[in-house]
Amino acid sequence: MAPLKMSIPMQNAADDGMVQSGADSGLMPETVLWHLIYEKLQEQVPQQFFTAFFQNIRAEKYDGRQLKLVGENPQVVSHIKKRYLPLLKELATNAAEHEVEVDLQEDQRSSPPTTPAASQPIPVAAGSYPHVIHLNPNYTFERFIKGPSNEHAFSAALGVAEKPGEFHNPLYLYGGVGLGKTHLMMAIGNAITQSKPWLKVQYTPAESFQSDLVDAMKTGMHAHFKARYRNVDVFLFDDIQFIGQRAEYTQEEIYHTFNYLFQNKKQIVISSDRPPQALSKLHDRLQSRFQSGLVIDIKPPNLETRIAILQARSEEMRLSIPFEVLKYIASRFTGQVRTLEASLAKLQFMSEHERRPIDLQMTKLALRDLPQEASGQQVTIDEILRVVARSFHVEEAEIKGNSRIENIALARHACMYLARQVLPSMSLANIAQAFGRADHTTVIHAEKKIKDIMDKDEVFRVQILELLEELQF
Ligand code: ADP
Ligand code: MG
Repeated sequence: MAPLKMSIPMQNAADDGMVQSGADSGLMPETVLWHLIYEKLQEQVPQQFFTAFFQNIRAEKYDGRQLKLVGENPQVVSHIKKRYLPLLKELATNAAEHEVEVDLQEDQRSSPPTTPAASQPIPVAAGSYPHVIHLNPNYTFERFIKGPSNEHAFSAALGVAEKPGEFHNPLYLYGGVGLGKTHLMMAIGNAITQSKPWLKVQYTPAESFQSDLVDAMKTGMHAHFKARYRNVDVFLFDDIQFIGQRAEYTQEEIYHTFNYLFQNKKQIVISSDRPPQALSKLHDRLQSRFQSGLVIDIKPPNLETRIAILQARSEEMRLSIPFEVLKYIASRFTGQVRTLEASLAKLQFMSEHERRPIDLQMTKLALRDLPQEASGQQVTIDEILRVVARSFHVEEAEIKGNSRIENIALARHACMYLARQVLPSMSLANIAQAFGRADHTTVIHAEKKIKDIMDKDEVFRVQILELLEELQF
């Protein structure tokens, strides 16, 4: 690369009071040098990543030998260090026309507040970030049916709700799908909101945390992200198993968030489908943090509990159901509580439709089509559209449409790429068609394009790999 013509002062302006070209503009030498590097970077780094990574980097000092840069976002700083330092050095050296070292550090001025002020309002960002999920008011302790399979989890959750942050911290609940983990977490949230309205409760599925983080990084809102997730008294973190192995930024962020909350004696509740030690994908230090608290599992309810759940639900729904029918349903479905609920909904419909009371014969007929248990579901095009639309913040219809707006086109390409990975038996022509394209070569092109970007950009690669993981889970 040809050296830049503009010369950069060798010494710090303050040292000898003489600045060469920088003096003309009245700018500090580090500002001038950074400006020159910045311009070249812009030509060399794809726009989306350039904006995501370099927009908020500032030159702090240049002493003729070393340029010191600072960035607010620790993830971005560590990413730049990993990937772009040699390039920065090369550009700095070219610009200055002599060897320059580049050092990049996290900006100390933007570290999180030392005292948590949970009542402080958090600014709301534009667009879909951040995800806000409200507690489901139906998920209360009163509506949770206890049995031998879940009574420990129930008591621990109740203990947390009564004395948040005092014992059982963190509380880690784990168990299979549909066994009431989300219900219990939200029950904690609902109870605390009622009894201690001054405490700030934050319920967050791990997935939302992750996509909020990716968004915050893209838009330079990391400080805001930090404030949002640290400014809570009770942090309910659902389904942590969705955080994949390669989601290093997310893991790092979870670790720091938990540490921060923990040190400030804030309550943390985590749910997962497996015990901490089986979260093989998570950093050891995260695992040991979980294990230091109370770890409790929820097992599938036994027959008696299942009958009790059905009884409670049917009363709520004002359904009159003979005991033998409840027993039949409870013995047919042994896994998820959700399936029990679905059975009741179906029966309610049949009974209203046929205008006759629910009996065993109707029940057998009604439940014939319901799967015995939730089966491992096959990934579908719709599923791909859904996860990609969410991750790229575009509408599914836009992906299928004709827009050439960069982000939409990229999302469309990502869909095709993912379809190639998870639906190997689907033909190129069918994939093209599924995403509203006539020409099968579009898919080949999309696949290559996504691979290329993934090779060049770690954040993007992580984003795609996580979608892949989510689809294949
Ligand atoms: P998970 O988060 O473990 O996958 P959920 O909390 O979403 O499961 O529970 C699935 C459904 O089953 C919810 O509607 C919930 O209210 C209900 N449910 C689960 N366990 C119980 C229980 N012990 N008593 C009452 N309802 C339950
Ligand atoms: Mg759940």
